Amino acid sequence: MQGGRVRPDPKQAKKPRGGMARWGFADGGALMLTEAGTGRKAGVWLVEGEPDGQEPVDHLGPDAHTMSRDDLATALGSENIRVHGFLRDQRRIAGIGRLLSNEILWTAKLSPFAMTRKLPDDDIDRLHGAMISVIEHHIDFERTLDDIGKSADRPSAVHHRIGFPCQECDAEVRSVEYRRYTVAYCPTCQTGGKELADNTTSKFLK
Ligand SMILES: [Zn+2]
Repeated sequence: MQGGRVRPDPKQAKKPRGGMARWGFADGGALMLTEAGTGRKAGVWLVEGEPDGQEPVDHLGPDAHTMSRDDLATALGSENIRVHGFLRDQRRIAGIGRLLSNEILWTAKLSPFAMTRKLPDDDIDRLHGAMISVIEHHIDFERTLDDIGKSADRPSAVHHRIGFPCQECDAEVRSVEYRRYTVAYCPTCQTGGKELADNTTSKFLK
């Protein structure tokens, strides 16, 4: 889901706002799963035994931060698509959402629209290094929190900084807007100064 949170639920209200599931514990405490997005994609599965290989995780790719550089290179070569979409596809790599894909590509100095099969070896090296370091950095940050909080509170170089100067080069952080997500990038650091436009979107703007 998008905008999903698990947090302590001291009130245990009958009709909690955004509430999708509640876990009650023997000591009377509870945790609540809430979904802030309008997609209504939340789901809870009860599985017996080892969850790997069972629904709903059976179709997931490997955890992003456990992938080796060569695993990533193989996955990139399996289909020729934009690297931003590749990173967010949970069937190929699990655990990277909208914020992380923007941050990883900025850190790797790669265009979000670069095609996966065309990436030269040194770009794959940088992408892999950025994927591991950005995820570790964000996990470290999350572990300082008592409550998972809002996406907007998370530190970012481009994701929440559209229209602001890039921390690296001072150019303005730009974006390409889609219905469900936004591609945020620095033209100077990532696209050789070129402004990205989506063909499908540009047609409507003409
Ligand atoms: Zn920059």
